[in-house]
Amino acid sequence: MDVLVVGCGLTGGVIARELAEQGRKVTVWDRREHIGGNMYDYVDEHGILVHKYGPHTFHTKDKSLYDYMCRFGEWKEYKLTCGAMIKGKFTPTPFNFHTIDTFYAEKEASALKVELKEYFSGREFATVLEVMNADNECIRKYGEFLFDHDYSLYTAKQWGIAPEKVDPSILKRVPLRFSYEEGYFDDEYQMMPKLSYVDWFRNLLDHPNITVELGVEALEHLSVTAGELLLDGVSCKIPVVYTGALDELFGQSEGSLPYRSLRFEWRHEDIESKQPYPVTAYPEAESYTRITEYKKMPVQNVTGTTYAVEYPLMYKLREGMEPYYPVLTEESQRKAAVYKSMAEEISNLYPCGRLADFKYYNMDQALARALSMISNIRV
Ligand SMILES: Cc1cc2nc3c(=O)[nH]c(=O)nc-3n(C[C@H](O)[C@H](O)[C@H](O)COP(=O)(O)OP(=O)(O)OC[C@H]3O[C@@H](n4cnc5c(N)ncnc54)[C@H](O)[C@@H]3O)c2cc1C
Repeated sequence: MDVLVVGCGLTGGVIARELAEQGRKVTVWDRREHIGGNMYDYVDEHGILVHKYGPHTFHTKDKSLYDYMCRFGEWKEYKLTCGAMIKGKFTPTPFNFHTIDTFYAEKEASALKVELKEYFSGREFATVLEVMNADNECIRKYGEFLFDHDYSLYTAKQWGIAPEKVDPSILKRVPLRFSYEEGYFDDEYQMMPKLSYVDWFRNLLDHPNITVELGVEALEHLSVTAGELLLDGVSCKIPVVYTGALDELFGQSEGSLPYRSLRFEWRHEDIESKQPYPVTAYPEAESYTRITEYKKMPVQNVTGTTYAVEYPLMYKLREGMEPYYPVLTEESQRKAAVYKSMAEEISNLYPCGRLADFKYYNMDQALARALSMISNIRV
């Protein structure tokens, strides 16, 4: 083995492939029993392709990243549509003119749409924050309605805080559309694998120089002592690309990095449809945030439907949870920076990826980051 890669998600998989193509013998470990990291999908007992760790749609503005994904599998164009249920009614998200038609009487709805078009003249959307701060009462009230019935409730559950503590400034990038256009992302390339993400990963990892070992907890073999990386108790001489969480690698010496986790409750019903949108938020529901109905993502012609109900919770180490979303506060970012500088002291350690970088990366960002890492690795 020339290089050890910890983690068989997008980051670890891409780095392994690139190094293998350069002639390096790469071993990839993952503590999970499957490849693909959080992009892992499988066909459930009802014949429906589902994503174990939450709904994943690949989207990017960058043609070179799109081309990279196309090297290892075929894709189909797929524009994800999302929605929300508010006061018992479904509406698309990002909110648009359908939302206004749903929650306002006909006359008020027409007036509000005209006011929005005039106030934000020439623009296709504004951020919710701009709408809430508008110098026009009718427009402002619309923003406040959405904040009170959707954003504050959803955000509070997602991050485990009280709704009244949710600061509207978090909405400075959330768009509100001034048209009937639907679609969650606005990137040029939006797609899903023709077969599955796992099939794409199989092709990515299919190289004679790559060995994948699953069900291997790296921390049972790797440790750091006096600024040196040890592999099974002896000094590790090869490069180690590490895509797990840095606080775990360093034994939480600086304290834990906070993450939000999710619990998925899987349900199957003999009904044609659970909800109009594949991914739907339920801000007013007791404790769950959203439901993903997989037969719609993309459409699968099956009878019955399987869906996952998402319950956010605080991540706790060694309690069978997955760390999904880094909780980015001043304190956590300071801690993460300390771990990063500790990692930089170790010349053959290459932390990279969503966990090791303590950043929320979309798949295209994780891919870009992985590709940019290759030239740094000294084998
Ligand atoms: C709910 C959810 C929905 C998402 N939806 C989208 C979407 O629609 N579009 C999009 O672009 N992005 C989405 N993402 C982001 C996407 O999942 C990430 O960009 C991508 O998975 C990052 O890949 P990664 O390899 O860095 O991390 P991961 O996929 O987390 O892979 C890391 C791997 O390392 C392994 N590992 C960690 N520590 C160890 C250890 N000590 N020993 C052995 N193995 C270890 C883990 O088991 C894991 O398999 C979503 C993320 C979440 C959480």
